[in-house]
Amino acid sequence: MSPVKRSWAEPFKIKMVELLKMTTPAQREKAIKEAGYNTFLLKSEDVYIDLLTDSGTSAMSDRQWAGMMRGDEAYAGSQNFYTLEKAMNKYYGFNYLIPTHQGRGAENLLSQIMIKKGDIVPGNMYFTTTRLHQELAGGTFADIIIDEAHDSQNLYPFKGDIDLDKLKALIKKHGAKKIPYVCVAVTVNMAGGQPVSMGNLKALRKLTRQHGIKVMLDMTRIAENAYFIQQHEKGYSNKSIAAIVKEICSYTDGGTYSGKKDALVNIGGFLVLNDKHLFEEASNLVVVYEGLHTYGGLAGRDMEAMAIGIQESVQDEHIKARIGQVLYLGDKIQEAGIPIVLPVGGHGIFLDAKRFLPHLKQTQFPAQALAAELYADSGVRTMERGIVSAGRNKKTGNHYFPKLELVRLTIPRRVYTQAHMDVIAESVQHVYDNRKKIKGLKMIYEPRYLRFFQARFQKL
Ligand SMILES: *Cc1c(COP(=O)(O)O)cnc(C)c1O
Repeated sequence: MSPVKRSWAEPFKIKMVELLKMTTPAQREKAIKEAGYNTFLLKSEDVYIDLLTDSGTSAMSDRQWAGMMRGDEAYAGSQNFYTLEKAMNKYYGFNYLIPTHQGRGAENLLSQIMIKKGDIVPGNMYFTTTRLHQELAGGTFADIIIDEAHDSQNLYPFKGDIDLDKLKALIKKHGAKKIPYVCVAVTVNMAGGQPVSMGNLKALRKLTRQHGIKVMLDMTRIAENAYFIQQHEKGYSNKSIAAIVKEICSYTDGGTYSGKKDALVNIGGFLVLNDKHLFEEASNLVVVYEGLHTYGGLAGRDMEAMAIGIQESVQDEHIKARIGQVLYLGDKIQEAGIPIVLPVGGHGIFLDAKRFLPHLKQTQFPAQALAAELYADSGVRTMERGIVSAGRNKKTGNHYFPKLELVRLTIPRRVYTQAHMDVIAESVQHVYDNRKKIKGLKMIYEPRYLRFFQARFQKL
């Protein structure tokens, strides 16, 4: 007899539920049309399973809710700030903490204190808000992710890695003085939640040190990145997630953090730095944009919940179940022969819209059209990550044409059950079976910044 297969399951039980409205196909057709075929413009009450984002949509634990009641709402020197600082220092090991209302608040501060006009900011693929803040500060983003990341079928397990030769070429061309820091995202959201290897981070540290260039983390999903290192990188299978997370941070000089992802809170973020001078600069600026340096736009209770969330996020059992659920959905969709980004990353499944809808040109917004179709089929809300999200080149005004034209099914943490995953997979399969009937879209309203949030479309 073969041994019994042991399943993973959630290390928690459900204490409170939120009831959902069930809609008819006709109601959904009407809702998505009124939303200009943009899932960001749908009303949440019209959504059944919300996979728009894993940002701020996680379920907090009873411990976090208890922490909310311990909010110290003093304007200055809130106790919760010191609790958060202690958790940050214990799990990430940086010297200085500046809270911000969310991740992009920290990106703004970091970009303004470090980037001068004409600077180059290399990174492992762009992230929407990160690149925009770098550009608004006068910098130009340069993509130095390995080529494998742009190929949705390449199975390399660390597709978030930095191509050190691309970085060397940039240093040679522009000089190290024009490069204030390398921005390293762990994991890489736009590549499909792909992780960076520890070996790559070590090598990056060595190279940048030779040239006096700093390394700044986008640490938004650092615990998820650590899980992939533990599973797939030699020498790490016996190390805890917490130890791996701390080692990642040790090869960097600071970073920006959105507490809305790993840290299981609905709002919050921070900037962390090791350099005292930079910390002083950021402290001067935070009062302009966010609030005093001991609250940075957050209520005391939010800082308390984030401190507890950080501790929960690095527990091995938590992260195993979190990513286990994502992989479960990925396997189901892949088994049905539907094209997705491989290997499956940490926070969601990314449908390859170019191969899903080969009859549509990229200028007909295939990923946008597919996201709208999925909603109409089942009330599952997903997000475009393709030509609409990529925006326009600020010099030429032309669309960027990203290689990856994706629909992201992002899984909130601790929110949905395995049965929900089955319903999602069945809806994707149904839409896939009827894919030839799906029409492209025309953009009829285009906002100037981050257009994917508010753009409106019509069916062709
Ligand atoms: C969400 C996110 C950000 C921005 O954080 P917000 O809290 O949404 O402002 C930055 N980088 C990455 C990789 C993200 O996923």
